[in-house]
Amino acid sequence: MTKVIWPAPRCGNLKPMPMKKKPLTSGRVRPATFAPYMPAGVITIGDLEKLVGQMKESGAEKVKFGGEMVFVWKGHERPHEPAPGYQSNNFKAPVVRPVRLCSAEVFCQRFKQPVLDLARTIDERFRGTPLPVKLHIGIAGCPRSCSEPAVKDIGIIGHNQGYEILLGGSAGLGPVLAQSVGLAKDKKTVLAVIEKVIAYMQQGGKKMRLGRLIAKIGKERFLEESGLTALLQPWQTPAREKSEEE
Ligand code: SF4
Repeated sequence: MTKVIWPAPRCGNLKPMPMKKKPLTSGRVRPATFAPYMPAGVITIGDLEKLVGQMKESGAEKVKFGGEMVFVWKGHERPHEPAPGYQSNNFKAPVVRPVRLCSAEVFCQRFKQPVLDLARTIDERFRGTPLPVKLHIGIAGCPRSCSEPAVKDIGIIGHNQGYEILLGGSAGLGPVLAQSVGLAKDKKTVLAVIEKVIAYMQQGGKKMRLGRLIAKIGKERFLEESGLTALLQPWQTPAREKSEEE
């Protein structure tokens, strides 16, 4: 049985590193958070109930999941509709997959652009859209890129000036880093970019991840034919932001 252990156990003879509390350069106030350690991300339903109860009692209001939440039954059977009102995520079909978002502005104050609402809108509008192959979207509120947008088919990174768009990344068997293709000045433009990429992949009908498709036809031709050239502004990460990342 998996136990929730507080604090996290020490690893062998290694001593825990002292936590350095660095004030945020932005002057924003960091909200109080607590991320319980769960070995391999697994917890029993009983412990989950206990955990939620304790968090509620101590005044916690929201929960942010970093990855999927998968409920597991003992046997092979599960009720037809285990959680009325909730749709099931699909991790297999060739569709637009659920957005992967970093801790974002409600949970992390390092953000350069708010991304929570943007991620919700993208999920509501595009998740499940059929394509010849799967398409992953990753969104990060700042260049620290906690949601790993550089290994997503479409990566979005918040900067002071807008949203940097990266295309063609993937993890898995043949990892590929996405290429930065320009800056979307606002959320509306980000949504238009995603719409155009999806439309291009649907029309082409090729069973090819976005990165391979772009490598095959060339970045400039892809941007032109998909209509992204007209939407995006030229972009280069400023030296100041680069040094903040280090
Ligand atoms: S990417 Fe930036 S805004 Fe998002 S969680 Fe990481 S540090 Fe915070």
